[in-house]
Amino acid sequence: MKKDTGIDPAAVATWRPATQAVRAGTWRSQHGETSEALYLTSGFTYDSAEEVAARFAGEADGMQYSRFKNPTVEMLQHRIAAMEGAEACLVQASGMAAMTSSLLCMLSAGDHVVAGRAAFGSCRWILDNVLNRFGITHTAIDGTDNAAWEAALQDNTRAFFFETPANPTMDLVDLEFVCGLARSKGITTVVDNAFATPVLQRPMDFGADVIAYSATKLMDGQGRVMAGAVCASRDWIEEFLSPFQRNTGPICAPFNAWNVLKGLETLPLRAPAQSESAMKVAAFLEDKGLRVLHPGLPSHPQHDLCQRQMRAAGPIFAFFAPDGQRQAMALCNALELIDISNNIGDSKSLITHPASTTHYNMGEEGRAEAGIADGMLRLNVGLEDTFDLIEDLERALGRIGL
Ligand SMILES: *Cc1c(COP(=O)(O)O)cnc(C)c1O
Repeated sequence: MKKDTGIDPAAVATWRPATQAVRAGTWRSQHGETSEALYLTSGFTYDSAEEVAARFAGEADGMQYSRFKNPTVEMLQHRIAAMEGAEACLVQASGMAAMTSSLLCMLSAGDHVVAGRAAFGSCRWILDNVLNRFGITHTAIDGTDNAAWEAALQDNTRAFFFETPANPTMDLVDLEFVCGLARSKGITTVVDNAFATPVLQRPMDFGADVIAYSATKLMDGQGRVMAGAVCASRDWIEEFLSPFQRNTGPICAPFNAWNVLKGLETLPLRAPAQSESAMKVAAFLEDKGLRVLHPGLPSHPQHDLCQRQMRAAGPIFAFFAPDGQRQAMALCNALELIDISNNIGDSKSLITHPASTTHYNMGEEGRAEAGIADGMLRLNVGLEDTFDLIEDLERALGRIGL
């Protein structure tokens, strides 16, 4: 029985990405099950009191308590780390648990963060409303502007925090430049890579330190569970994240971890397929005369950068109803197949109006600054037939006179 090959780093490192997605982390029990087992247990038992003492003293491997370690969760951590090319990974209850933990575990009062302005609403919220309260300041900049990163540096800057592509404006950050700048100053880069996943973009290849995920999105890929993940060097995980997470408890439930583990098996097929379909749908909308923001299209101001740092541009893009919010909402309402939903990364195509949903609490001024116009729509292209999606959009555009 090839019981432990999935958690043998020497074996896993020789596998190509699609093999890692299916087999990395597989850690079979004495029964030799094919599919990864779901260990729904909070605690573990021991053969002797000495054995448990050795585990608590860190002198013996093994499980102690599911807040620290759980076999199903451990399998997912191995699989994500392998796909990312990272030394280590810990998973969390949600993407926001991952983002919050990766910042709070290493920052202290008096530290400063430079953050990309275009970001998931809750990522901005933690900077403004959590870190601020503990004396951790930040400067929010236009992440697309390399000079702005340099200009925002302070003596106490400890971290750069950004997402690329950013939600929902599809702004890109130049990974090579920004991570290189951080390296030269001893600053830790935390990259929210939820839109791309390791299949489409590997920020560590450009020098990023910490890669944080909402695994709820493309990693699960089927809209089932909430989960998050953080990848980094073994030293960073052991020094900062692991003790923080063990003691504060934002951990991923084994059932959720199991769903993501199974989702990852098809990620190398889904992510390119959804990316390709999204390109076709975006090109159709552009042909209709609508303004589209899709980094895979030559019309995107950072198309060249996209080609340098991404394998494909992903399933998500933005486009604009020229007459604003009422027209954008009318278009959503006129669709018959594409669902109105604020989720992304799902195998079902989903559309949302960011200004009234995901980015509502930024306020009008914040949205204007981040380029989130009232007519903007964000589309997640799923795994349906591309022509059915285009037909649905064409019919809906016709109904609202566009
Ligand atoms: C969804 C999302 C998050 C938050 O993840 P949850 O799993 O919903 O907590 C963070 N960043 C980005 C870019 C996202 O799309």
